[in-house]
Amino acid sequence: MKTYRLYINGEFVSPQSDSTIDVIDPSTTDVIARVPNAGAADVDRAAKAARVAFDAGPWKDATAQDRGRVLFRLAEIVRDRADELAELETRNSGKPIAESEFDIADVATCFEYYGGLATKIHGEVLPVPDNAMSLALREPIGVAGQIIPWNYPLMMAAWKLAPAICAGCTTVLKPAEQTPITVLELASSFADAGLPPGVVNIVTGAGETAGAALVEHADVDKIAFTGSVEVGKIVMRGAASTLKKISLELGGKSPNVFFADADFEAAVDGALFGVFINQGEVCSAGSRILVQRPIYKKFVDAMVDKARKIKLGPGMERDTKMGPLVSREQFDRVRRYQEIGKQEAKIACGGGRAAGGALDRGFFIEPTIFYDVDNSFRIAREEIFGPVACVIPFDHEEDALTIANDTYYGLAAAVWTRDIFRAMRAVKNLHAGIVWVNHMQPTYVEAPWGGYKQSGIGRELGTWGVEEYLNVKQVFINLSEQPIGWY
Ligand code: ADP
Repeated sequence: MKTYRLYINGEFVSPQSDSTIDVIDPSTTDVIARVPNAGAADVDRAAKAARVAFDAGPWKDATAQDRGRVLFRLAEIVRDRADELAELETRNSGKPIAESEFDIADVATCFEYYGGLATKIHGEVLPVPDNAMSLALREPIGVAGQIIPWNYPLMMAAWKLAPAICAGCTTVLKPAEQTPITVLELASSFADAGLPPGVVNIVTGAGETAGAALVEHADVDKIAFTGSVEVGKIVMRGAASTLKKISLELGGKSPNVFFADADFEAAVDGALFGVFINQGEVCSAGSRILVQRPIYKKFVDAMVDKARKIKLGPGMERDTKMGPLVSREQFDRVRRYQEIGKQEAKIACGGGRAAGGALDRGFFIEPTIFYDVDNSFRIAREEIFGPVACVIPFDHEEDALTIANDTYYGLAAAVWTRDIFRAMRAVKNLHAGIVWVNHMQPTYVEAPWGGYKQSGIGRELGTWGVEEYLNVKQVFINLSEQPIGWY
C-alpha cells in the first residue's frame, strides 16, 4: 500500500501533521493508499509557493508557446500512462474500467486542446473616437485555488489545471478526500512535462479544513469549485472575505424528456444511459425522466427490463457495467433516498443494496426506478447522485417544459423527439446550460459546460473555460502630444 505526500513547489513533501486519510477501493472497502490530511499550514505553504511562482518564477516569463508545449507534453504523458491511470481510477472510484479508459483519454484531449489554445489568447484594439490607441489585454488572474469532486477524479483535475496553465496562472488543487490518487500520480510527471516548481501544487485534505483554508487564503486570487450546491454556497461565502473571483460547477436534477414520437429503442437506451452511467454519480444525470402518456407504461416496462440486466460488479472486471458507489457515506445517502422514494412513489425495480457474491463486499446499489413520481416529491427535487431514476408522466409539450424547468437547478436537459419544431421549441425554452436533442451526456472539451440557476456560475471548457482564468486590462495610449488643456 502506498503512502502519498503533498506535492508543493515541485516536490513531494511531508505535511505538518501526521494526520492521514485512508483511500479505499469501494468494491471491497479495502484501504489501498493513504494520503495526508493537510491542514491550514500546508495550504498556506502551497499557496505561497504558487504566489511566488506567479509573481517571480520563470513561469511569469514563459511564453504562450512554452505553456502550450507543457500542455502538449502533459497530454502525451497521460497517453503513455493511460493504462496505469485508468486502473487506479477504477480501483479508487469504483467505476467500470471501460469508463475510466474514456475518462483518461478525455484528460489527454483536454490538455491537448488547451495546449493549442495557449497561443490563441490575445487582446484587442478598440476603435475609440480620440487620437489614442485603446487596447484590451488579457492577463492571467494569478493564483487559482481549485477544488474538485470524486466522480471523475482525474478528468475534473484536467478541466481545472489545463485552462489555468493555458492562461498562465499558477494553482493549488485540492482533490476530493475519497479520490486523490490519480492526480498525485500524475504530479510525479509534472516536472517532466516542463512545469516549473510552484506552478501546480496538489494538497490533499478535508473540505472543511484544507478546502476552506484555500478558499479563504489571501494569496489566492480565484476559486474554481466543482461539487454540491450546498458546499458551493459555503465556498461563495468564504471567497467573499477576500472578494475572489469564483467559478462554480454544481449539481443538477436534470430532466430527460421523451415524447411519444421518439424512436422507442433509442429513447429507452438513452433514458438508462442518462441516469445510470457512472453509477448515477454524475452532476448532469438525467434523473427526472419525463415520459409522454401514450408510451408511458411501455416505456417504464422496457426500462425495467433493461435495467435488470445491467451487470454490477467490481470495476476491474471487463463485463461490469455498473460499479459500486464511491464511499460508505454516498452509499448510505443513496440508500436513504431509496427508502424515501418507496414512501413517495411506486417502485418499478431495485430499491435496495445489490447483494450476492462479490457484491457483498462493496458499496453496490441496485439500479432503481421509481414511477408515477410527482415533481414535488423529494426524490424529484433533491440531487441523489446515485443510480436512482424518477419517471414522471406528462400529457402535453407545455406540461413537459413546465415540469422540466420546475427546479432550482439548471445544469442540463435532454429532449427526445422526431419533430424538429418541437425539438427546437424545447431547446429554446429549457433553462439549462446544455440541452441535448436525441442524446444525453456526451460533452466535448471544445464546448462550454456549466449551469443556469443554482447549478453554478461561469463556464468550463472551450474558450469560455480559459476566460475564467483571465483578467482584462484596458490600456490607453495617448497619440496626441498636446496638453489636455482643461485648466
Ligand atoms: P460531493 O457531494 O460530490 O462530495 P462536495 O461538495 O461535498 O461534493 O465536495 C466537493 C469538494 O468540495 C471536495 O473536494 C470537498 O473536499 C470540498 N469541500 C467540502 N466542503 C468544503 C468546504 N467547506 N470548503 C471548501 N471545500 C469543501
